[in-house]
Amino acid sequence: MGATLKINGKTKITGIIGCPIKHTLSPAMHNAAYESLSLDYCYVPFLVSPDALEDAIKAIKALNILGINVTVPHKEKVMTYLDETDREAAFIGAVNTLVNSDGRLIGYNTDGRGFMQSLAENAIDTRDKDILIIGAGGAARALGYSLVQEAKSLSLFGRSKMRVHNLVHDLNRIKNSVSSCMDLSAVGRYHMIINATPLGLKKEDPLPLDTSSLKPGQIVYDLIYKRTRLLEHASERGCVTVSGLGMLLWQGVFAFELWTGRRPDVEVMRNALLQADR
Ligand code: NDP
Repeated sequence: MGATLKINGKTKITGIIGCPIKHTLSPAMHNAAYESLSLDYCYVPFLVSPDALEDAIKAIKALNILGINVTVPHKEKVMTYLDETDREAAFIGAVNTLVNSDGRLIGYNTDGRGFMQSLAENAIDTRDKDILIIGAGGAARALGYSLVQEAKSLSLFGRSKMRVHNLVHDLNRIKNSVSSCMDLSAVGRYHMIINATPLGLKKEDPLPLDTSSLKPGQIVYDLIYKRTRLLEHASERGCVTVSGLGMLLWQGVFAFELWTGRRPDVEVMRNALLQADR
């Protein structure tokens, strides 16, 4: 809590907008990182309803807030109100980090890089891998943008065929190695399977795939940062399992760097996340 208790007239304000917001773990990890580097910054949650988004974005400028993370449901709509969007975020069509650069609001998306860094720290190399992504929303677009540049092939499965079709089309413009997957009966043929849907957030949710088809050695990544039933089943079948906690951590690390120009202590951020999630 230290950083928030030492606020003074020069403290730089960062934070997160979303709706709902009370479950966010980001304040814990960013404030811990600021404190560990003795940076005069703080990070606060802002509950912003969809009809207040435009006013909230104007307020970032009016109040001279330095940086903002953007979460559900604002990641796409927020782009309408920005002065500039970086290339990756423009491709993805969603922004998760804003930088207020002398009154100009610039949008970035650090989710894809966060995902790739979480793979790297688990010693998972995506080159020469056939990868299945389940889901075709904002997170799938962010992962797709990063993965398509490395993986051997990408297959996309989603309940909205139009959304899948559009993402396949967009990714193939980067590298022609992406196809849509029409059903999940052959999940055993992929090196890595990623759940990029919210299925698993609630205990009563069905599994996103039939886990009896999983084979030992396959990598199963669930973007949800909790240990989900999907990961438990996959682990019982001998798969390598990864939760979304690492992605959450690394997207935060990259946002921190954009705001401060400094490299945070990643382990301080990780521990803060783990403690806040208890
Ligand atoms: P979106 O709402 O943009 O997309 C969700 C996707 O999941 C869509 O393809 C949607 O299908 C599909 N979906 C939603 N509900 C169901 C369902 N009941 N059955 C089948 N498919 C469903 O969300 P995001 O892409 O932003 O987020 C996806 C997940 O990733 C969330 O759980 C989120 O918490 C997690 N996430 C984790 C991050 C991390 O740092 N660990 C970062 C970002 C996201 P349709 O198109 O038909 O609606």
